[in-house]
Amino acid sequence: MSEKPFGSFFLPGPTEVRPEVLAAMSRPMLAHRGKAFEDLFASCQSGLQAIFGTARPVYVGTCSATGFMEAGIRNARPGRVLALVNGQFSERFANIARACGREVDEVRVEYGGGFDLAHVRRALGIRDHALVTVVHSETSTGVLTDVHAVTALAHEHGAMCLIDGVTSVGAMRIDFDASELDYVLTGSQKGLALPPGLAFAVASQRYIDAAAQVEHRGLYFDLVEYERFIQKNQTPNTPAVSLLYALQVQMERILAEGVEARYRRHAAMRDATVKWVGEAARRLGIAMHVLAPEGQRSPTVTTIVLPAVISPKALVSAVAIRGITIGGGLGPLAESTYRIGHMGEHTLDGLGKCLCAVEGALMELTSNPAPSG
Ligand SMILES: *Cc1c(COP(=O)(O)O)cnc(C)c1O
Repeated sequence: MSEKPFGSFFLPGPTEVRPEVLAAMSRPMLAHRGKAFEDLFASCQSGLQAIFGTARPVYVGTCSATGFMEAGIRNARPGRVLALVNGQFSERFANIARACGREVDEVRVEYGGGFDLAHVRRALGIRDHALVTVVHSETSTGVLTDVHAVTALAHEHGAMCLIDGVTSVGAMRIDFDASELDYVLTGSQKGLALPPGLAFAVASQRYIDAAAQVEHRGLYFDLVEYERFIQKNQTPNTPAVSLLYALQVQMERILAEGVEARYRRHAAMRDATVKWVGEAARRLGIAMHVLAPEGQRSPTVTTIVLPAVISPKALVSAVAIRGITIGGGLGPLAESTYRIGHMGEHTLDGLGKCLCAVEGALMELTSNPAPSG
């Protein structure tokens, strides 16, 4: 397979990984119970803590993000769950809770919508909940939820809030400690721009103290064990050492850029994409718009609604012919939307090239619409 230059892969996860980060994975193995490993592991913590905004240790799991979604539920104190559902991944969080034997109530809005906090407050008032699940940046719709406000509401009602930050962590402020969050997780292949295969999570002391009282936490995802091992810069089981090499290099890169600069870069890529959607729709004379409401748009992924005459699949293929990868729509949005992932190491310049390719493809598809039927 021929190698493309950096700046051609705009899938909303996995996202593009810098070549120097990929190269780090070819270092030789080392023993995971030993000083060299502990130094490697410890060297990754300051970057991870800066990203989560915490002085707590950041757990590193050898699993995809879903593993730490499940861990968040399994280790949390017993009781009902209130799941906030507005897309594919928040739906998954609710399903995981049910699969772990929890009673789940939902606050549900249509895919592409944002939550009315008054509805969340009302649902919390109807019955007791031990937990609330919420996705910060819904990768299927590009909608951002104010998870800090949701956590405050949960706390008012005596619940803890589990936050999926897979496409927000590393791309915008999380402020775990300052906002007194309970549990936030992410994966390696989205906002952190690493290959898939690692998950990261922070749990508050209050969460982990409660977890220690939970029966049948299972073994692989026992967060109390993660907490115990991390005191000596180790993981409970054999970690993905090669991915940790990549993590070390990526954390150095992130700290060198500065987390605030990184957040500004992501906000600028979001704004540029939104602006382009409006301008391109006018230039092409088509009804195309950003799905997420203004003020609730993710810095990492934009979901764009196409007019019915253009098939998202045809668009994704036409863009691929131009050497650029973008994402199709997910679930019920598959036939009406496409997604541009502007996360990780992408730049405004690179994004500009991507948008140019998408516009070229749209022009081609609108001048020769596919025969219907
Ligand atoms: C990608 C994604 C996940 C699932 O991640 P896996 O790494 O595939 O387990 C969960 N939540 C959100 C918001 C995502 O974008």
